[in-house]
Amino acid sequence: MHLIVGCEQATVYRAGNRRFFTKRAAYNHAAREKIRSRCDCEPLDYADFASGYMPMACRYHEDMDRCAKLQARLARWYKHIDTSNTNNEAEEPKEKR
Ligand SMILES: [Zn+2]
Repeated sequence: MHLIVGCEQATVYRAGNRRFFTKRAAYNHAAREKIRSRCDCEPLDYADFASGYMPMACRYHEDMDRCAKLQARLARWYKHIDTSNTNNEAEEPKEKR
């Protein structure tokens, strides 16, 4: 039998209220959300074409290269915290002694 739409089980990783197919994506999301929660950029609609005023970027977003590095470092740190926490359900079950 060949179904057009099949059904299969897959492990997903939860970060916030979203689900991800890879741990990497979940940790990246968590890091991005942390930065976003501290973001203080001026809204884009502050832009004024008449005077040429451009909205100010916050200290996290004024340098996008630095921001990407910070997000990657944060994601690695979050993963490190989770791996050293043995009670984390996201970890693969360990072999019983
Ligand atoms: Zn910002």
